[in-house]
Order: sequence, then C-alpha cells, then structure tokens
Amino acid sequence: MAQGEVTSAAREAVSPRLGRSNRDIMTLGIASAAVILFVGNGGSVLPQIVRGLVGDGTGPDRLLTNALLLNIALVIFGWRRYRDLSAEIVDRRRAEALALELAEHDALTGCLNRRSIGAAASALATAAHARGDLAAFIMLDLDRFKQVNDVNGHAAGDCMLGEAASRIRESLPPQALLARLGGDEFAVILPFVAARSEEVERLAEKLIAKVALPVHFGEFELETTISAGISKTEPGQSPDIQAQLHMADIAMYHAKRNGRNRYAWFEPNMENEQRFRSEIAAGIRRGIPLGEFVPYYEKQIDLENGTIAGFEMLARWNSPKLGMVNPEIFIPVAEEIGVIAELSECLIKQALRDARNWDPKLTLSVNISPVQLRDPWFAQKLLKILLEANFPPSRLEIEVTESCLHENVGLVRSLITSLKNQGITVSLDDFGTGYSSLSQLRILPFDRIKIDRSFVMSLLEDKDSATIIQSIISLGEGLGLPITAEGIESEAVLTELRRFGKFKGQGYLYGFPEPADRTEATLAQLDLLLEPPAAPVAVGKQRAAR
Ligand code: C2E
Ligand code: MG
Ligand code: MG
Repeated sequence: MAQGEVTSAAREAVSPRLGRSNRDIMTLGIASAAVILFVGNGGSVLPQIVRGLVGDGTGPDRLLTNALLLNIALVIFGWRRYRDLSAEIVDRRRAEALALELAEHDALTGCLNRRSIGAAASALATAAHARGDLAAFIMLDLDRFKQVNDVNGHAAGDCMLGEAASRIRESLPPQALLARLGGDEFAVILPFVAARSEEVERLAEKLIAKVALPVHFGEFELETTISAGISKTEPGQSPDIQAQLHMADIAMYHAKRNGRNRYAWFEPNMENEQRFRSEIAAGIRRGIPLGEFVPYYEKQIDLENGTIAGFEMLARWNSPKLGMVNPEIFIPVAEEIGVIAELSECLIKQALRDARNWDPKLTLSVNISPVQLRDPWFAQKLLKILLEANFPPSRLEIEVTESCLHENVGLVRSLITSLKNQGITVSLDDFGTGYSSLSQLRILPFDRIKIDRSFVMSLLEDKDSATIIQSIISLGEGLGLPITAEGIESEAVLTELRRFGKFKGQGYLYGFPEPADRTEATLAQLDLLLEPPAAPVAVGKQRAAR
C-alpha cells in the first residue's frame, strides 16, 4: 500500500471527529433538558392525567399534556441517539485503530514500517542504555531478490518476503523490534548486554540460516539468502537512530560484496570504502560515453609449439583522475550499479574492430560477467554485435567464471547452448577457486577449462597447487575438455607445466597485456596482420599495463 493511501485513511477516520462531537454535545444537551423537563413537568401532569382517566377530576391542562408528549418524544429521541452514538463510537475506534495499524505497519508482512521504527527504536535504545545495556541494529537485505521477481513474478516475490519476515520474527527474542524498511530490506533492533555481543552474532547467523531454507510457492521451490550488517550504540552516548541504521546499511553492503549470505559488523573504514566506491561509480558513469574504457590484450600461447593462438581482451579504465585502473576495481562496481552490460558491449565492439585486422586464425577471448548471463537476450545481443562487426563467431571465445554456476543453472545452460549453436566457444575461467561440482560441469556444455592463475603461480612452491593442477587436468581429460593454464610467469613454471601434458597457456612470461596499437605492432612483426598498422608504434612509447 502506498504511503499516501495510509495517511488519507488515517485522516478520514480522524478529521470529522470535531464536527460530530459538537453535534453529540447538542444531542446530549437536548436529551438532558428533555429528561429534566420530563421529571419536572411529568410530576404534576401525570397525576392529573391519571385522575382524568379514572373520572376523578377535570383532567390535565392541554398545553401541559402536549408539552409532556413532546418531552417523551425527546427522551426517546435522546435514547435512540445515545444508542446510535455508542455504536458509532465503537466503529470509529475500530477505524482509528485500523488506520493507526496501517500507518505504522507494513501491509504485506505486518512488520513495523520505516515511519514508525524511529520512535520505537529510540525508546528501546534509551531504555537499554538506562539499564547499562546497548542496542544492536541489524540491517537485513535479501540477496538477488530482483531476480526472484523477474524470473518468478511479483506474487512469488511477495510470498518470499512474507515468508522471510515470519522466519525472522519467529527467531527474535520478545523485546526485539522488526521493521520492513521497503523492498527487500528489513531492520531488527534489539537490546543486548554490552559484554555479550556474540549473542547478536548468533542471532544474525540464525536469521541467515533460516532465510536460506527453501520457500514453497505453488509447485515451485524458491531459494534466496540474506546479507546482514550490524551496528551497535555507544555506551554513554544518546542513540542516533538514523545514524545507526546508516552504519548497519554500510556494513550490510560490505557483507554483500564479500560474497553475500553472511553478516558484517560496521567498522569506520567501511565508510571510506563506500565513499571510494561512490567515486568510482560516478567515474564509470562519466567515463563510458567519453571512451575512457579501453581493451588491452594478453597473448594466449599454444604451449606445444610456442605460437600465438589468440588474445584475451582485458578491460582497462584510463581514468583522468585515477590513472590506469584494473578491472578488479571497477568491474564489481559496474556490476553493482547496473552498467556492466553497457560497458562490456562497448569494449567488445572495440575489440572486434581491433581483431578484424588480425590473422583470421587468431581467436579473441572476452570475459563476461555473471550479471550479463542473467539476461535471457544476451546471446541474441552478442550475435547482433558480431553481425554488425562482420566478425566470424567461430573466432570468438566467451570466458565465464565459476561464480556463474551458483546462478540459475537452467538459464546459464540454455544461454551457453545458444552461444555454442552460433559457433561461439565458451570457457570456464578461474577454475578451482569456486565450488563447481562434477555434475555441474557435465550439465554445462563448456568447451574449455582455464586453471586459475593462483595455482599456476604457486606451482613450484606449493605441493597442493601441483596436486590441484594434476586433478584439473585429469578432469579435463575425463570430460574431453581442453585446458588453458593462466599466470605463467617464468620458464621454470612452464617447464614444470609441460610435464603434465599439452595445453594452452598465458601469463607475464609472454608479456603484459597491451593496448590495441602495441598488439598490432607485435602481430605486424610476426606477419600476423591482414593490413599493415595504421601508424607505427614506437617501442617503449606506450606503457604496458598488467
Ligand atoms: P581473468 O579473466 O582471469 O584474467 C587474467 C588476469 O590475470 C588478468 O588480470 C591478467 O592481467 C592477469 N594475469 C595474466 N597473466 C598473469 C601472470 O603471469 N601473473 C599475474 N600475477 N597475473 C597475470 P586483470 O586484467 O587485472 O583482470 C582481472 C580480472 O578481471 C580478469 O581475470 C577477469 O575476470 C576480469 N575482467 C577483465 N576484463 C573484463 C571484462 O571486460 N569484463 C568482465 N566481466 N570481466 C573482466
Ligand atoms: Mg579470463
Ligand atoms: Mg582467469
């Protein structure tokens, strides 16, 4: 229900009160006067009437009799009005209570709402401080709730919100407050003994575990998780509710960025982190139309003969303020603020233009964010870009990270299948860092596995890395999937890797990722360009970026 509706309902129930109560006083006045007159008048007239009726006397005065009849009518009118009024008051009280309930509570979940939580939380925190306790503010937000709404519809979303609210409510101690602040955001406020903050943590863990249980919606089983941020009041300071909620909110975003389905306590440095992210976000929005995002290219080598098999495009942000920024900084922010698809499209278009002049046997790999894979039109959009660039799909390789396997596997599967049907190859990037199971690998029709660079880089020092690489290679052989090893930094690692078998490799041993013109210059030297570079690039003039 919209806020405006609640307010007008409340107003409607309350504002006519003044006019009506004036009328009520008049009715009461008339009825009282009628009763007094009846007592005064009736005392003398009634005996006269009785005497007249039994034939003992002259009968009552006509005028007085009429006055008495009028009196009786007024008493009856007063009585009936009193009865109606009583019923009206009951109805009115009920309407007022309902209006108040609507104004203070969220209609879907029955929780307190954003407007009413302030006063209740303030009273709770003040009482806690008076006892020498503190108050904890837990901000809760469902993870990827938008996806539930988009994929399963709003009725499913409402069902999930209702279920989440009742599971949270059931888990709370009696003195705790629960509010729905809007959308999929809830707040829990509770007092706790200052020395026992671990009890707040246990509660947060309990809430996270309960919300993660499946929700039944018709024949479907919906699943979600929740992220929590916690702030606590300071002893000896009067609690500022808005500031506490803000801190809990910052901590909640921190928990989301660290993988969701977890909680985090607020720490002051999180605020700087948030500020930095906001700056990055504003910079990304400004930078996309200004062409500040550019593709760099890293060689992919066929380890059997040492030749270049293709390039992986790696995004760089040439920020006027921050210099050359690596994707690990800006990609997560671009995902968060919903511009990753736009950013990726503009980079892919540039890369396709660059790669058109390369030898046609060279492939181009591009990284795709899990966020883009949630778009059911992704394959069609990519095909359109390929057609416009006149670039053969067979030369394009898409790299998706293991984290996409935690998403809707059915959707990812159909997407990968339609990419493959168009002739595009699909690799599973950073393999070994996530939790993909063998069964998932079998369901999802990947063409290649890329071993995460962390294992390759530590191959010589860490026995476990060697074991992991060995098992990934056996897995690849078992599933018939070719392997690429990333992060080859030295000849020694290369020699060691070669002992495991044949595969492709990439890493700083073959050079850092380079911009388009430097890549062209390298390919020109190797006679791997269709047409000579537009302008020769002086060696050392362009800085390579890691
Ligand atoms: P990735 O796809 O695994 O890319 C390989 C990363 O390892 C690159 O980092 C590359 O510079 C680095 N690397 C390559 N060889 C070596 C080596 O020998 N030693 C070391 N220490 N590092 C090496 P970069 O460019 O910072 O990219 C990081 C990640 O950002 C990429 O990991 C990829 O997941 C993501 N990314 C890059 N460009 C894009 C993009 O356009 N879209 C999306 N969604 N993600 C991107
Ligand atoms: Mg990659
Ligand atoms: Mg990788």
